[in-house]
Parts: sequence; structure tokens; C-alpha cells
Amino acid sequence: MTDCLFCRIVAGEIPSKKVFEDEHTFAFEDIDPKAPTHVLVVPKKHIRGLKEASAEEAEIIGHCHLAAAQVARQRGIENGYRTVLNVGPGAGQSVFHLHVHLLGGRSLTWPPG
Ligand code: AMP
Ligand code: ZN
Repeated sequence: MTDCLFCRIVAGEIPSKKVFEDEHTFAFEDIDPKAPTHVLVVPKKHIRGLKEASAEEAEIIGHCHLAAAQVARQRGIENGYRTVLNVGPGAGQSVFHLHVHLLGGRSLTWPPG
């Protein structure tokens, strides 16, 4: 999708600080980090968000989470990190291409705001 910010980042049309890439996923530093580690993991395929995802996309969504776990392992933040999907505008979703936030490197409170 040419009008989607994250599709354009995956395509290299908009620069990003790439952290990880494989066949199905792409991970990059969040431009406005909320923690020392704040990485976004996105499927290369455009999926609007979790509530729009279909059963055929289950594997790729799981793959995004495992990619986040791999980045967390590489960064040595396994004492505690969070993977988050903001789903819908009421939860703060502002980019409508599914993305897993990986947040870590500091203590994280519960519940989130
Ligand atoms: P959400 O609010 O859950 O939709 O998350 C969107 C995230 O994308 C926010 O944390 C933004 O800081 C981040 N973001 C927006 N534009 C860019 C960009 N060009 N490069 C990296 N991250 C971005
Ligand atoms: Zn997209």
C-alpha cells in the first residue's frame, strides 16, 4: 500500500533505523522512543491491525512476536520487557499497519495507562 507509512518503511522509501529483517517481518527503532529499547516489529504484508487480521495471518503475527523476543535477547533486556499492540484509536493506535511494540530497558509498571 503506497499510502501506508510502514509499508513505505518496509520498502525503503522512508528511512528507518533497521534492527532486524527476515522473510516476513521487519523491525526498526521507534522514532519517538518511550523506553531505552523501543522497537517496532511489523509484518511485511500490510495488515491494518489486530482486529482486522484473519486466521491465515496468525502465523505471521506470531512470527512478529518471536522476532521481538529475539531482539530482546540480543539486547540483554530479558529481565523484563513488554510486547504491545495498540488496537484501535481508543487504545492509541495511530498507524494502521499492524505493529508490535517492544519496550524494555527500564522497569515497566502495570497496568499501562
Ligand atoms: P501506535 O500509536 O501504536 O499506532 O504506534 C505507532 C508508532 O509509530 C509510534 O510509537 C510512533 O512513534 C511510531 N512512528 C511514527 N512514525 C514513525 C517513523 N517514521 N519511524 C519510526 N517510528 C515511527
Ligand atoms: Zn502497510
